[in-house]
Amino acid sequence: MNVSFYTLGCKLNYAESAELRHRFEQSGHTVVEFGEPTDAVIINTCTVTENADTECRKIIRRVLRTSPSAFVGVTGCYAQLQPEEIASIDGVDAVFGSKEKFKIHDLITDFSKKETPQVYVSDLEDVGFEEARSAEGDSRTRAHLKLQDGCNYNCSFCTIPLARGKSRSMDFPLIEHKIQSLIEEGFHEIILSGINLGDYESNDGERFFDILHLIEQLKPKARFRIGSIEPNLLKPEIINLVAQSHIIAPHFHIPLQSGSPEMLKMMRRRYKAEYYYNLIHTIKEKIPHCCIGVDVIVGFPGETEEHFMETFNFLHQLPVSYLHVFTYSERENTPAAIFPGKVSQNIRKERTNRLRALSDMKRQEFYRSQLGTEQTIIPESYNNERSTWIGWSDNYIRTEFAANISLLQKPVKVILNSLDSDIVSAELSENQIEEKQWSNYIPLLV
Ligand code: SF4
Repeated sequence: MNVSFYTLGCKLNYAESAELRHRFEQSGHTVVEFGEPTDAVIINTCTVTENADTECRKIIRRVLRTSPSAFVGVTGCYAQLQPEEIASIDGVDAVFGSKEKFKIHDLITDFSKKETPQVYVSDLEDVGFEEARSAEGDSRTRAHLKLQDGCNYNCSFCTIPLARGKSRSMDFPLIEHKIQSLIEEGFHEIILSGINLGDYESNDGERFFDILHLIEQLKPKARFRIGSIEPNLLKPEIINLVAQSHIIAPHFHIPLQSGSPEMLKMMRRRYKAEYYYNLIHTIKEKIPHCCIGVDVIVGFPGETEEHFMETFNFLHQLPVSYLHVFTYSERENTPAAIFPGKVSQNIRKERTNRLRALSDMKRQEFYRSQLGTEQTIIPESYNNERSTWIGWSDNYIRTEFAANISLLQKPVKVILNSLDSDIVSAELSENQIEEKQWSNYIPLLV
């Protein structure tokens, strides 16, 4: 049978779809590109915002229009939380919850159109950890490795604990093998990923720091990047280890969500603004060239212009490098959905734009602060017209430099020269990495 997949949402969802594809192939099915004639389509959904739900329904309807005779199965966070809503869309054949996501090919033996949709959604009480990894975009240089899933926190705006269940983690002894197989496949960078990554805890009590320590000891031939990590879990020992590491990139992505103490409390976040402030300054003191990204939510219920300006000013004066700005969206069954003080959609939009402009400024400021320095880049894509390579530095600077196409994704040293909007122009450094050093640092593809 031919099967295609469509994925919405976060990087973890993409990694899980890659794993699903793999499992279908192992069961003897052929995976075809989405949009090609197929016998079955599996849609892996997201429910982080109202928009995400709308987008999921749109895609389901599009698939039903373009492949009317194909079996249509829907899984993912939206499917876990709103199975009936999805099953009520005429033409959907099955809905699979988070626990059933990786069992689709076992649950369905006959992928023919169904008279009535079959709903396989159970509660997530004892859901286990499922492995997943994927390449980022079209790049064969970077891979996400899922180490943890679910979340035990109860932020008042978030549906993830409801959609994905409790925190659970990959077995610690498996990690070395997973890393090695990604490197053997030719990946140069591995992004350590999870829903609440810092909450990693193995059955034997190993924590996230132990994974980093293991990586340092193994000295694998790749660069490692830490995915998003909650501020209260970014412990001093992690910062110290990254500060002296040549393998783990000096880059943290640390959700803040609001700079207003009152809003943080309403959001039920597990830290205070003052703690976050000190954390960022500690990181920059120990790793001055560190890139720091921040998640922030605007338009949370009760957010006045004063609260918003507290967040704006807080971020303005912090040495952070970019922001991911999310417009608050009411999610059913979350405490915040019924909080008073709804912020109008226009104001939410306007505040989102103001923070996005601040993010552009912060990114440029950070990029500018690194001009003149030498950085290691893993070239990812080649621009034939300009004869340039584009790639990312250890500290997450998007860089373009002229070089022959034969460079073929070998890590190179460059000098950062000038800033051109959202990318830095660079030139190859005379001080290149010795071949033998390369092979100690990162494997060569050529
Ligand atoms: S830490 Fe909070 S925002 Fe993040 S997944 Fe858990 S509940 Fe959601």
